[in-house]
Amino acid sequence: MLFTEEHDALRKTVRDFVEKEINPHCDEWEEAGTFPIHDVFGKLGKLGLLGIHKPEEFGGMGLDYSYNLVVAEELGTAHCGGVPLAVGVQTDMCTPALARFGSDELKREFLAPAIAGEMVGCIGVSEVGAGSDVAGMKTTARKDGDDYVINGAKMWITNSPSADFICLLANTSDDKPHKNKSLIMVPMNTPGISFSPHLNKLGMRSSETAQVFFDDVRVPQRNRIGAEGTGFMMQMVQFQEERMWGAANVIKALEHCINVTIDYCRERQTFGQPLIDNQSIHFRLAELQTEVEALRALTYQACELHIQGKDVTRLASMAKLKAGRLGREVTDSCLQYWGGMGYMWDNPLSRAFRDVRLVSIGGGADEIMLGIICKLMGILPGKRKD
Ligand SMILES: Cc1cc2nc3c(=O)[nH]c(=O)nc-3n(C[C@H](O)[C@H](O)[C@H](O)COP(=O)(O)OP(=O)(O)OC[C@H]3O[C@@H](n4cnc5c(N)ncnc54)[C@H](O)[C@@H]3O)c2cc1C
Repeated sequence: MLFTEEHDALRKTVRDFVEKEINPHCDEWEEAGTFPIHDVFGKLGKLGLLGIHKPEEFGGMGLDYSYNLVVAEELGTAHCGGVPLAVGVQTDMCTPALARFGSDELKREFLAPAIAGEMVGCIGVSEVGAGSDVAGMKTTARKDGDDYVINGAKMWITNSPSADFICLLANTSDDKPHKNKSLIMVPMNTPGISFSPHLNKLGMRSSETAQVFFDDVRVPQRNRIGAEGTGFMMQMVQFQEERMWGAANVIKALEHCINVTIDYCRERQTFGQPLIDNQSIHFRLAELQTEVEALRALTYQACELHIQGKDVTRLASMAKLKAGRLGREVTDSCLQYWGGMGYMWDNPLSRAFRDVRLVSIGGGADEIMLGIICKLMGILPGKRKD
């Protein structure tokens, strides 16, 4: 990956934003279980950071994905995972399919305000009975005249309590599970939508998550993205940017964990010497930093392929898998060196340990990534090449 001065300038813009607009408030927002999402997104929108690789026609910057990767990476310098997660949902989870396959009318209505930070979006795929098994979801959108009437419920929906729209995956026919789904843009103020109380989570505390219920929710059929029945395919494509974003966002967060642990181990004395002078500790920290560089290389490689317009499923799945696994390893190892301090709720390692745990679960669990990689390697039973 050859970064230019423009990439460096963008990095600085994002880092400055995080230092000025996010980090001073993280503790308060984590405690409150929410943050002023419209205000923060409005500021990000004004800087153009919500539409880096989105079409200029709808207010985006029209840059290639490497610039978006830089933004995702630098957002990882935030001292909490919840706010970057909310941003990632907006830029790389609920809008990629709309930008790629949506009608101009839909893009004007939802994409342009999402890029400007005037609307907050969320993505509705998972259900209580269907997280990993996306094809098994039950929410329906039945045709009635020119409308769809939506019934069902979506679980664990990030940003939903404050969102202005949801990009919803729903069954629009009784065809086979991979052919009966459509992505539909639904304004959140449509009658018939209701929410559970905020879900009480292990980590990502500043990010709002709720269950969203749909009771005879009526939207025009023109709110569907692309052709009917292609929603599953579009969501699988949309997942690739989500997964690259997730991997990129973890890199600097993990480096921060290593760096603050180095600082702490320099200060903390046991048996008459700083902790850092124990070979088991400084070797381990060096090993973890090496692993983070490997994650960075893998993520950049996926990004390069994506920019070339090639199928990125294999490398994006590998990067997501590695990010989840390594996130757990780095936060667990570093927390250990903080001893009792690491076990305290407000300790930076304690927060990172809780936040990063999501990466191995959300957006396709580790085992789902392994299944995809096996399939593409031709070693998944039933899909074997031999
Ligand atoms: C904080 C948070 C935010 C989220 N935000 C959103 C959102 O905004 N929008 C949205 O749509 N969803 C969201 N999700 C849902 C998330 O994507 C799902 O939780 C995830 O896909 C896993 O689905 P599940 O929880 O139903 O786990 P299950 O499908 O019940 O799987 C449980 C576990 O079983 C294992 N497993 C599953 N299948 C296999 C297999 N084939 N082989 C081996 N092991 C397997 C995995 O370890 C998995 O973690 C969010 C979740 C959380 C926790």
